[in-house]
Amino acid sequence: MNLLEMTFSQVTGFLKSRYGRGEFHAGALLREVIKKGNHDFEQAPEFERSQALADDLKAMHAPPDFTITDQVEQDNTLKFVTRLQDGALIESVVIPMKRYNTLCVSTQVGCRMGCRFCETAKAGFKRNLLVHEITGQLYSARIMLGKEISNVVFMGMGEPFDNFDNLIQAIRVFNDQKGFDVALRHMTVSTCGLVPGIERLAKLDLPQLSLAISVHSADDRVRSDLMPINRRYPLAELRKALMDYPLHKRRFLLVEYVLIKGVNDSKEAALQLADYLAPLKVRVNLIAYNPGREDISASGFARVADDDLNTFSDYLTELGLFVVKRWSKGQELMAGCGQLSGADEIR
Ligand code: SF4
Repeated sequence: MNLLEMTFSQVTGFLKSRYGRGEFHAGALLREVIKKGNHDFEQAPEFERSQALADDLKAMHAPPDFTITDQVEQDNTLKFVTRLQDGALIESVVIPMKRYNTLCVSTQVGCRMGCRFCETAKAGFKRNLLVHEITGQLYSARIMLGKEISNVVFMGMGEPFDNFDNLIQAIRVFNDQKGFDVALRHMTVSTCGLVPGIERLAKLDLPQLSLAISVHSADDRVRSDLMPINRRYPLAELRKALMDYPLHKRRFLLVEYVLIKGVNDSKEAALQLADYLAPLKVRVNLIAYNPGREDISASGFARVADDDLNTFSDYLTELGLFVVKRWSKGQELMAGCGQLSGADEIR
């Protein structure tokens, strides 16, 4: 029994089928373990007269089996590395926003999507994360690191839709009011454009969940060069899936656009992007490419100057797009977008 993988109704169902008990004890279990990080739940008042049940559950209970091996904080942005039971390392980032903290979680060890500007891609793909390894990142941030987190973005290591079933279960566990209690509208899934994943998500009834799509270029030639996924699901196919996506009437799609000097930062690129996005209800997150500690990455991509980011943003705004500029927080920690490498040590 791993409570990091179960919703309230699943815990209740389990207790009912096995012990003829139900919501009363399920609520207590989730409150103690998920909300308080207390694994001695047999001491909770709900178990006072049910010690045999508590002992049985305790014997089955699997407490978190991962360790935070490293953490570094700068400008309030905190990156932490978790060692999983099999020794694999994953990274998560706590990002301060105006009124709350957002946690960026990983969904895979490594990634097989091969985006050329991405640190995670360089290490290749190792394996999917299990549900409790995804939800455990929020458990660690809140319980072990004492951070108040109200938002979750699936933007860490890995392509979330490449681990679809575990992603969806993690979302349901996060969303459970008796457990982690993160509102769906406070969660964002970010994809590099895995069209079957977008189509599958569209069929689930999760209209408040935000969907972010990494576009990075509206030119198939440039995008295929940056992101191999574009060869399989080119821009036209991606846009069709996005047009069919059942967007809640007060929501919009989030388009991620990492601006790379000399690659996708021209006026023509802005025009192409505006044209591509015209039929969609979107907000564009414009992110300065982050080559880590160097000005040019090993892949030969260079950081854009702040002025160039402003100019590109102005183009898009003039073309009628709503743009939010992001100077990737945590740059010095290599904890910005596409910068999670699973490195053992944080340099
Ligand atoms: S940017 Fe995202 S999808 Fe692309 S290789 Fe990196 S982790 Fe994978």
